[in-house]
Amino acid sequence: MEQMKPANSILSSFGTTIFETMSRLAQAHGAVNLGQGFPEGLEPAGVIAKAAEAVTNGPNQYPSMMGTPELRQAIAAHDRRFYGLDLDPMAEVMVTSGATEALASCLFGLIEPGDEVVLIEPLYDSYLPIIRRAGGIPKLVRVEPPHWDLPREALAAAFSERTKLIVLNTPMNPAGKVWSADDLSFLAGLLERFDAYAVCDEVYEHLVYDDRRHVPLITLPGMRDRCLKIGSAGKIFSLTGWKVGWVIAAPALLQPVAKAHQYLTFTTPPNLQAAVAFGLGLDDGYYQGLTRLLQARRDHLAAGLERVGFRVLETGGSYFISADFRPLGFAGDDEEFCRLITERAGVAAIPVSAFYQGRDVAHFARFCFAKTDAAIDMAIERLERHFRS
Ligand code: PMP
Ligand code: GLN
Repeated sequence: MEQMKPANSILSSFGTTIFETMSRLAQAHGAVNLGQGFPEGLEPAGVIAKAAEAVTNGPNQYPSMMGTPELRQAIAAHDRRFYGLDLDPMAEVMVTSGATEALASCLFGLIEPGDEVVLIEPLYDSYLPIIRRAGGIPKLVRVEPPHWDLPREALAAAFSERTKLIVLNTPMNPAGKVWSADDLSFLAGLLERFDAYAVCDEVYEHLVYDDRRHVPLITLPGMRDRCLKIGSAGKIFSLTGWKVGWVIAAPALLQPVAKAHQYLTFTTPPNLQAAVAFGLGLDDGYYQGLTRLLQARRDHLAAGLERVGFRVLETGGSYFISADFRPLGFAGDDEEFCRLITERAGVAAIPVSAFYQGRDVAHFARFCFAKTDAAIDMAIERLERHFRS
């Protein structure tokens, strides 16, 4: 065949995502998969039953592109219950096909070619390709292990008159960091000073541990018209394959985002929307139970990894632990390490360097603890056996 005409050069320059790569490798080697972040054994039966009923009895045709009124109302009620937000469900809530689509719609809807976009590394893998494809110019600021503290000077220096927006992820994947109210106030000051917006990826909003509290940036003074807050039913109900997410924002901010959404996915399965609306109405006990269970699993996995010999970093939120493997005597980088334990020990993890553009933070593996106790025990047993021999 003659040589193909070149495809889009920006997207072609990226490889296959690390999550897909490691899950395939885990499958090929029969490894316990603590890599890609998907939960096991936490799916609420009532929510699943509601989806089954809605598939059988409908609705099964295109819903409104903004989402079913029922789900938009449930999202507004959820945000009122947990954050005291007063949202107009018909003008300020849009349902999307997962947080990934919500992010893409926000970025495509708001970025004009040449706009600067501030990002904090380590960053979730979908941000950069979409920002580049939208013509945005990324300005990267980094936080680093072990404390992942926000370097305020560097953050302020990343902003300019050309800044359109920042993408903020709290609780943060993979760091497990929950941004403090103080850090958020500092950021709010920058947004006002530079007349910029924030796309707030808060998919782990309910996965916050110990005495920490999740504070949405949109609830801070002056932020109501500057923030777009993104949520994901995949995380709240441990049903990641459903891909039901949402964006809430003031009408003037949501409108351009809806323009992108209508040409990307247009809409999201209505039967799953019905089930998510039901789930969001579950009482506080459900949400507290999820946090309690995941906190116990975090402690279970952290104790096990320490027994194996890792140096385990603190996790305040999300369902990920980052662990330094150098105390085990492994001298290679994190990609080699994750490949090795997947193939030889039968436990998959994600190299933390995949969340950075550079290669200098390359001695941490990310483990997902939203797994059954049996899976965590098996993973620890396999790692202990491997590193003892
Ligand atoms: N943002 C972050 C930080 C995530 O970890 C994920 C995870 N899977 C997403 C967005 C995407 O969520 P969804 O599956 O709802 O598209
Ligand atoms: N967010 C999940 C993670 O960080 C995976 C999402 C995906 O596979 N694209 O593991």
